[in-house]
Amino acid sequence: MHDKMVKLLRSFNVEVEVSKVFHEYVPEDKLLEFDGIIVADSKIPAESIRRTERLKIIQKFGVGVDNIPVELCKSKGIYVCNIPGINSLDVAEFTLAAILSILHRIRERDRMARKARWSERPKVLSERLTGKTVGIIGFGRIGRQVAVLLKPFKVRIVVYDPYVSEEVVKEFGVERVEGLDQLLKTSDIVTLHIPLTNETKHMIGWRELNMMKRNAILINTSRGAIIDEEALYKAIKSGRLKSAHIDVWSIEPVPRDNPMLKIRKVQLSLHQASWSVNFFTEAAEFCVENVLKAFRGLKPLNVVWESS
Ligand code: NAD
Repeated sequence: MHDKMVKLLRSFNVEVEVSKVFHEYVPEDKLLEFDGIIVADSKIPAESIRRTERLKIIQKFGVGVDNIPVELCKSKGIYVCNIPGINSLDVAEFTLAAILSILHRIRERDRMARKARWSERPKVLSERLTGKTVGIIGFGRIGRQVAVLLKPFKVRIVVYDPYVSEEVVKEFGVERVEGLDQLLKTSDIVTLHIPLTNETKHMIGWRELNMMKRNAILINTSRGAIIDEEALYKAIKSGRLKSAHIDVWSIEPVPRDNPMLKIRKVQLSLHQASWSVNFFTEAAEFCVENVLKAFRGLKPLNVVWESS
């Protein structure tokens, strides 16, 4: 997608340099030359921010700004902007796809078909989503979108989010449960849509996994550290849970020796729930326009430190 951004920026006579590093620091000698940075997950070092005299804007190609020293940028008047909400639908659709794929055993049926094991078909029966109870933890942008997409399936939707109002719960026609434990005990499928905070780190541990229904399914597209990954491994391996979809990892990029990669019962992806062509195109256009705004001396959109 950077090709599109480079083309767009160059069409406005902006000089562009594309970094080859991913999940690494932006090198200081480079950072000091830049008027603007569009960044995904590379870390922006605080030391270089202290020294820069040119930088006007850091535009996150995404939502979470934990790779950027936001407060320091604020003190230097450097805009830090993100793009919240732009990929909510992508994550919500992905969540639904993950649930349906597990229930309808798409991966197993695909494997069976490739071996033409026609007589084994009765061994791989699916389950309907309709009629099940889905528990949504975190009823913000993505959680609400998941609820909207689930509606035609006539499921019971229970939500746990102490920070949303009664009006929102009513508007979306879902049921609020008072505690996390209650949601875990009643749901056939649990899906996480909360940010990683001190409060949510390891929110789902061995105790919580053991509270879930036998045969329940867990979907995590939020942040890896919200689940105690070792406990989840144990719960899946021992058959305590039916399955899970893990998109986000306690350590990213996920190390090749992570034992979860070896369990066939879980569905996996590499932090890609939001990665659609649509999101990338819209995000690229947004990032370029926002950076150009700052270069023209205008205030860009979504300045994160204004809301912190
Ligand atoms: P959001 O801020 O709109 O919603 C988060 C919700 O979580 C809020 O309603 C908040 O009240 C609730 N919440 C906060 N702390 C809670 C707690 N302790 N218990 C219960 N609820 C709590 O965020 P969003 O846009 O819906 O995104 C949710 C998360 O999804 C993001 O924080 C991000 O980590 C993750 N995400 C992942 C991908 C991906 O590709 N996998 C893409 C986008 C976002």
